[in-house]
Amino acid sequence: MKELVEQLATDHGLDAKSLSALLKECTTDDRVLQLLRDSAVRTAREQFGLGIYIRGLIELSSFCRCDCLYCGLRRSNRTAERYRLTADEVMLSCKEGYRLGFRTFVLQGGEDGTHSDEWLEELLCLMRSQYPDVAITLSLGERSEASYIRLKRAGANRYLLRHEAANSDLYDALHPAGRGLEHRLGCLEALKRAGYQVGMGMMIGVKGQTIEHIVEDLQLIAKMQPEMVGIGPFLPHHATPLGSEPAGDLRLTLATVAIVRLMLPHALIPSTTALATLTPKGRLEGILSGANVVMPNLSPSDVRAKYAIYENKASWGKEAAEGLAALEEELKTIGYHIDYSRGDFNNTKTTEDDRI
Ligand code: SAM
Repeated sequence: MKELVEQLATDHGLDAKSLSALLKECTTDDRVLQLLRDSAVRTAREQFGLGIYIRGLIELSSFCRCDCLYCGLRRSNRTAERYRLTADEVMLSCKEGYRLGFRTFVLQGGEDGTHSDEWLEELLCLMRSQYPDVAITLSLGERSEASYIRLKRAGANRYLLRHEAANSDLYDALHPAGRGLEHRLGCLEALKRAGYQVGMGMMIGVKGQTIEHIVEDLQLIAKMQPEMVGIGPFLPHHATPLGSEPAGDLRLTLATVAIVRLMLPHALIPSTTALATLTPKGRLEGILSGANVVMPNLSPSDVRAKYAIYENKASWGKEAAEGLAALEEELKTIGYHIDYSRGDFNNTKTTEDDRI
């Protein structure tokens, strides 16, 4: 397995059989997992040093027309408390975030039918005019290509849209009312064409997912070369059809994060809120597997609990924008610190290959 890790680190890729063997080994052999994570951390440090980028997450709306089996915001969840932020509330969050030092704002939300292009455009123009130096990331699901282009022109820079599953049978099983994998991938292509820095990714451990499915995900990620990759464990929400399923496996999640880091040395990879929710040290474990971004919650405090995509979602303390001092302290325990710059994708940094 040591040879496979070394090959992955130098070639930035492995064949499907080797990826599968490596992932399986990582779920049972601590030494292999550690070897993989150490290699990923070395690669991340070569690219980003000991700085961790921060993104202020503003959860725009908990209304969603989708019915994803795993998500607490799914439209069939009649018990979900729904809210929608006004433009003024978003601007107040930005004001507070900017004061705290955030230079990236992420507008994320369910697919809320009232979020017309006009409304979003106006909001983006307002944000752009007041904060010309920040990066604006959108994560608002599937929209038309024309819409993506309009929002880009209005000032958005990045877009997060997890592909969720590269295997179309698994994709359809998880999204029976969705528009299918091809449509999802078409959206990712449209986002690239529109000039966004694009993020994709998936959950680990969702019902029906096998190691082979994760290998398919990794191969798709390698093919698409996204600028950002979000990977976190599946976590159950009681009011969904997957509510009594077990949470995703920590080791498998960390191994997958580490493999993505070695495949895409320059990628921006968050240590996800789901990881921090799964286990108290999850945020640090993610960084110690090659992640280099955290996304503290900047939503108004009275709505945070309502954006419940899964149970007990971490949105306070070190996961909250106002908890940056605590986050800094936590990062210090592993020798890292917050990097307050915008943290755009940059693939011109040196790699080990360049230096040889
Ligand atoms: N509507 C947008 C979209 O579809 O990209 C953004 C919001 S969506 C809730 C953000 C991400 O949350 C999804 O891509 C999904 O992977 C993740 N998510 C949803 N339910 C989850 C769960 N039960 N456990 C872990 N992650 C979950």
